[in-house]
Amino acid sequence: MVDHPRNRLVAALSHQGYLKTEQVTSAFLTVPREAFLPASLRPYAYADTPLDIGHGQTISAPHMVAIMCEALDIQEGQKVLEIGAGSGYHAAIVAHIIGPSGRVHTVERFDQLAQTARDNLARTKVTNVVVHVGDGSCGLPEHQPYDRIYVTCAAPSLPQPLIDQLKDPGKLLVPIGDLYCELTLFEKKNHTTSTRSLGGCVFVPLVGKHGH
Ligand code: SAH
Repeated sequence: MVDHPRNRLVAALSHQGYLKTEQVTSAFLTVPREAFLPASLRPYAYADTPLDIGHGQTISAPHMVAIMCEALDIQEGQKVLEIGAGSGYHAAIVAHIIGPSGRVHTVERFDQLAQTARDNLARTKVTNVVVHVGDGSCGLPEHQPYDRIYVTCAAPSLPQPLIDQLKDPGKLLVPIGDLYCELTLFEKKNHTTSTRSLGGCVFVPLVGKHGH
């Protein structure tokens, strides 16, 4: 049990300070990352690195998923919007943190990736994530407002629809830049929005109306 590669990765991420809270750590211990990967890449599921999931896209490195979940301070029962479903792994982690009373809506621009994400989530018995196909740079107006919003691809600047669809109070996390970008946290509180940079990162581009 202790020797499972997932437990070793979680121990390393905790030691390095990426995993901080019990809720996020428990999600990492529970969600099987290998189930979100093509068969040929499953042996690398617990390496702390991004991996190719087809269509030129990648599943984020586990430490990046940990940084984003901890920075968003996600609570049980919340409604969360993810832009960029990819494999569905990051959404599955968030789904575990919010529990059955919460819901993740995730938007993916590639139909085929959206279907793969749905299959991966069904296989791992995650029932509180809804995968939508569309241009997530416009958000997902039909289910707004959201307690938390995060983008798993790099936007040229903050897409206005996302901040509009965020609750007050609420938190929004977006990598801003090109390939090399700045992970940026926006916090809405008492009708004002504050901004904080969480450091440099690398993401595939957000492609769309408010994207690249
Ligand atoms: N969260 C994913 C990582 C996805 S990589 C995971 O855990 O696997 C970023 C994803 O954003 C890609 O799948 C890409 O197709 C998608 N993407 C890029 N621009 C988008 C847009 N405008 N709307 C929705 N998805 C977009």
